[in-house]
Amino acid sequence: MPRAAVVGGSLAGLLAANLLHRAGWAVTVHERTAGPLAGRGAGIVTHPALFEALRLAGVPEAAPVGVPVAGRITYAADGSVVGTWPLPQVLTSWSRLHRLLLEALPPHLVRAGSAAAGVSQDAAGITLHLADGADERADMVVGADGLRSSLRTAHLPAAAPEYVGYLAWRGVVPEARLSPAARAALMPFFAFCLPPGEQMLGYPVAGAADEVEPGLRRFNFVWYRPADPEALARLQTDAAGAHHADGIPPPRIRPEVLAEARDAARRTLSPAFAELVDATEPLFFQPIQDLAVPRMAFGRCCILGDAAFVVRPHPGMGVTKAAEDAVALARALAGHPGDVPGALRSFEAERLPVGRALVEHARRLGAYMQAHRRTPEERAAAERFRTPAAVMRETAVAPTALATPV
Ligand SMILES: Cc1cc2nc3c(=O)[nH]c(=O)nc-3n(C[C@H](O)[C@H](O)[C@H](O)COP(=O)(O)OP(=O)(O)OC[C@H]3O[C@@H](n4cnc5c(N)ncnc54)[C@H](O)[C@@H]3O)c2cc1C
Repeated sequence: MPRAAVVGGSLAGLLAANLLHRAGWAVTVHERTAGPLAGRGAGIVTHPALFEALRLAGVPEAAPVGVPVAGRITYAADGSVVGTWPLPQVLTSWSRLHRLLLEALPPHLVRAGSAAAGVSQDAAGITLHLADGADERADMVVGADGLRSSLRTAHLPAAAPEYVGYLAWRGVVPEARLSPAARAALMPFFAFCLPPGEQMLGYPVAGAADEVEPGLRRFNFVWYRPADPEALARLQTDAAGAHHADGIPPPRIRPEVLAEARDAARRTLSPAFAELVDATEPLFFQPIQDLAVPRMAFGRCCILGDAAFVVRPHPGMGVTKAAEDAVALARALAGHPGDVPGALRSFEAERLPVGRALVEHARRLGAYMQAHRRTPEERAAAERFRTPAAVMRETAVAPTALATPV
């Protein structure tokens, strides 16, 4: 039985682990976080390719994945409707997907609190070195270790995510905490509000315990706002003066920074969205970054998901891309029995162009929010994707030209 060590027990890691396990591999998942991961992240938009990957990964088809909506709506700052767009979609959450994927995998395969420190390889195999000093010998190591992947850095030291000039305020609010007016304006829709140079979007997701019944669901939002690097540095500095360059933990965000955001919401967003931001606890932000890598395969080691390509969130494709990576990996291995390096080269040849194209597509969708637009292409994209019609048509939609069959 061939052996695979997967580094990272988030969505990309569990998708790959499930697919490899079902293809007859002996799999170990090393997740450096010791406690439960549930609760991190918030809403996730689904696409047909994600459902197909979940099916192949062994998630029961009857398991409810999320909350359906029939279409999209855009509100002006005064709460009036400036446009609608019919687009049925299922919205889920990071924690729901994580739970489904974890339940599909035999529990003894996941080692929580186990951090990878590096790999070394020879003609016969690959050794994963763990931070606690232990080694694990395998035929393949899969780096699903996210945005700051140490396996990527080990092989591609120059490739690092870049801040793109805007951030996303995020949060989820139980629908029961919203006024009847805000609930009616938001819960049935994938909703938008588009203040100049900004974008607020939100959609319903399941409740904290995966409830999908009306009354128990939550509303998830992402509010993009420009911030140049100096403004970002100020926001990421805590009350003790410490600067959190890699992202400030929500409890460390200064009260005056939170108050400024809630105040800006009242001044610029529709009443329902402003109420949502006000009711959100914890309200937090993430700097938006992107990254394109020149390689995904390194002998018997590969990287996938956010470890390889970090796509700005606008196409809502991060998890679907990770799922398609995992499916492509399993397919390449099945097509090259006994030849892991050959399989990984084939996997790389299939997924590199898709990752690059997605990063580029998301850059065009996001140009409108950037604090500075540097090139004529960015300025043209900003013009093209600023209207309510264009935003509703293109946001969180799988770009068809890029879709690869799973
Ligand atoms: C504002 C925002 C909105 C988004 N909205 C969407 C959306 O609507 N739809 C969507 O599909 N995507 C969305 N995304 C993107 C999505 O969250 C990611 O693409 C997706 O979670 C990628 O998962 P991953 O498993 O590759 O990485 P991660 O979730 O980052 O997981 C990496 C894992 O590796 C572990 N790890 C790291 N280093 C080590 C190590 N050395 N040893 C062991 N373990 C390690 C980490 O603890 C972590 O659990 C959004 C992102 C942002 C920022």
